[in-house]
Amino acid sequence: MARNSSLPITIAQVTKTYGKVFALDHVDLNIQSGEFLTLLGPSGSGKTTLLTVLAGFTRPDGGSLKFGDTEMITVPPHKRDVGMVFQNYALFPHMSVAANVAFPLKLRGVVGAESARRVERALEMVRLGGYGARGVDQLSGGQRQRVALARAMVFEPRIMLMDEPLSALDKQLREHMQIELRQLHEQLGMTTVYVTHDQREALTMSDRIAVIQGGRIMQLDTPRAIYERPANRFVAEFIGESTFVPVTVAAGRLTLAGQALQTADPLPADGARLLMLRPERLRVLGATEEPGTGFNLLQATLVHTVYQGDSSLLQVALADGTRLQVRSASIGLAAAAQAEPGRPLRLALAVHDTVLLAADGAAA
Ligand code: ADP
Ligand code: MG
Repeated sequence: MARNSSLPITIAQVTKTYGKVFALDHVDLNIQSGEFLTLLGPSGSGKTTLLTVLAGFTRPDGGSLKFGDTEMITVPPHKRDVGMVFQNYALFPHMSVAANVAFPLKLRGVVGAESARRVERALEMVRLGGYGARGVDQLSGGQRQRVALARAMVFEPRIMLMDEPLSALDKQLREHMQIELRQLHEQLGMTTVYVTHDQREALTMSDRIAVIQGGRIMQLDTPRAIYERPANRFVAEFIGESTFVPVTVAAGRLTLAGQALQTADPLPADGARLLMLRPERLRVLGATEEPGTGFNLLQATLVHTVYQGDSSLLQVALADGTRLQVRSASIGLAAAAQAEPGRPLRLALAVHDTVLLAADGAAA
């Protein structure tokens, strides 16, 4: 399967309505050649609709879709040359593994020795070499999903579309397959659009993530940028844990419970803002420890500790009553007394983790 045969995808102003519902609302999205791009969003946000527009099963009301330089909107699905894997892999249950994988080749008139050779190579790619003669019903869930993948790859598509392909698998297998899929992508290099509602899966696998909500792309960026600098409150809440504190920038200063804070980006104009805090970025300082340069200091009181094994979630209160959450490495049995409510705590927060959003939750 040749490298460098992938294609960029250009989506411009694509809209699809069902009655009054905008499943896709003027979506613009440029996907680079060979990129692994994930559409991440809650149920009903338009992920599947966008994927079926790419596949050709859904005709948008308006907009343009290009693979490379070619306009695709009017091209039927079987002429788009895309590989597809869906959640319910829809293998033919009464057919052998090899016959399942050979199916797209047969549709394209590839049969006999050439077909057999390509089927075996696709099965080797997904580490099922030698499984061709087996019945599909003799395979585990993970093996079946790999057969579905081999079937999608066997005709060497330049674009691969995957809609929640791992969501039916148990957690351990899912995490294993995430790594496998990503490695396969690195070997083959086809442009891949992957759909999931699982934020960790998206962060693990993607070159870039498009966060989608209500048929609109909320943010398109690398996993790190999406997590560290969410464009708005929706993105911040959907990915990871966060506490939002209403704050006021006044006379060019930001204070929280009487303590001045420095922020990651230059302070915006005076006015109401929302401070976004990731619980794991607040660090409890030792009794004599100083926060050091590049850190804000917050004085707090411990309210409550939830022990969660590898880490604990602390509820703390600032002087003005503001509640924050702090994720901290758990302390062992002997140190349980340190979890006493009312204990004063000093917290360090890196300036680059001190992020402001607009008061309404949009980007500041
Ligand atoms: P997701 O895959 O993110 O869960 P979908 O793309 O399936 O979301 O759906 C987006 C929106 O479009 C939802 O409000 C859904 O109810 C609606 N929708 C999708 N397909 C149809 C359809 N065939 N008929 C009517 N409404 C649809
Ligand atoms: Mg869906």
